[in-house]
Amino acid sequence: MNWQQPIPKHYLEMSPEETAAAIQAHKDRFGRHLVILGHHYQQDEVIRFADFTGDSFQLSREAAKLADAQYVIFCGVHFMAESADVLTAEGQQVILPDLGAGCSMADMARPEDVEDAWDRITQVCGDDPDFQLIPITYMNSSAAVKSFVGRNGGAVCTSSNCEKILAWALDGQRPGAAPHRKIIFFPDQHLGRNTAYKMGFALESMMVWNYRDPSAMEDNRIREAAFILWKGHCSVHQLFRPEHVDQVRARMPGVKVLVHPECNWEVVQKADMVGSTDFIGRQIRSAAPGSKWAVGTEVHMVNRLAKEHPEQTITILSDCQCLCTTMYRIDPPHLLWALDNLSQGKVVNQIKVDPYDAYWSRVSLQRMLDITAGVPLAPPPEPAPSRAGKANSLRVLAET
Ligand code: SF4
Repeated sequence: MNWQQPIPKHYLEMSPEETAAAIQAHKDRFGRHLVILGHHYQQDEVIRFADFTGDSFQLSREAAKLADAQYVIFCGVHFMAESADVLTAEGQQVILPDLGAGCSMADMARPEDVEDAWDRITQVCGDDPDFQLIPITYMNSSAAVKSFVGRNGGAVCTSSNCEKILAWALDGQRPGAAPHRKIIFFPDQHLGRNTAYKMGFALESMMVWNYRDPSAMEDNRIREAAFILWKGHCSVHQLFRPEHVDQVRARMPGVKVLVHPECNWEVVQKADMVGSTDFIGRQIRSAAPGSKWAVGTEVHMVNRLAKEHPEQTITILSDCQCLCTTMYRIDPPHLLWALDNLSQGKVVNQIKVDPYDAYWSRVSLQRMLDITAGVPLAPPPEPAPSRAGKANSLRVLAET
């Protein structure tokens, strides 16, 4: 990945009004050839220019529907722009205004560590004739990890459909049954744990895969686990602690605590409701005037909901700065810099996934769509591209 070079100084010296006017002028000039996507966690100063707002998967699908939009500016983080590139048509170019906008959670699952874990688990469990290992990755992962999952018979999931995808992967294996079928879940241990627990699986049936020290993983634990959860987390959602739930309940009698499943298990157990950004938005939009909410997710989204619903009391679950700092790097100056370059015929910060990883990422995303739609899984399209050094990854294929 290339590093972001500092943008020319004059962008930082412009007034917010000048920057906003210049962005709007570019938008008017490009018209339907340009689409700007804004993730829920983005700051208001950027969201005001977004043609669509939503979560990463919703946004990529919107971009894919707009074949006229030659340029897709993704105001989100790197893995989101990768997914947009994978899902959009060949001629559409996806741009991330600041290359420093990464996701620490996605970065916790490096493809080489994922391959090593896979090798170790298949080697430890290989003497069980019924053993099957199904990889599932959260949308918040790199295209390389989605590609690995696609090649090995697994699927992507979102925080909305995780339960459905895990049920598919388990193929009827019940809590407490001998774990011949195992799920390796990347990269967010919390989403994996919270969902599996909700499905009736005991915490003891889950182990955490410490990719920093795989030799410390005991063979017996690997054999006994039904879920192998990658040791990844979202640094924003981990800022919410169980005591914050107690404090807000004491401070605001009658408050409903609504949290994202990337929060840790203890917080989720204390909350009233748990769900994706989409779920959080729907709950608040449909709530009665006078409702009181403490929301455990990124601060920009919570503040925006509070502004949109003055008839309710909406506060963030804790007063820590629960801010996605990398997402925050996408600001109006960087957006304008990318647009100025585009208007001079120069595409800066294009995010392009190589054809091999794009193909297998699309397979893992398509499986997710087929599973959630309840239709038979489509076979991968032919011919599959090849890439030296990766062909051996096509090993334990789930029955699809
Ligand atoms: S909020 Fe967390 S998971 Fe989402 S982009 Fe930021 S670091 Fe990644």
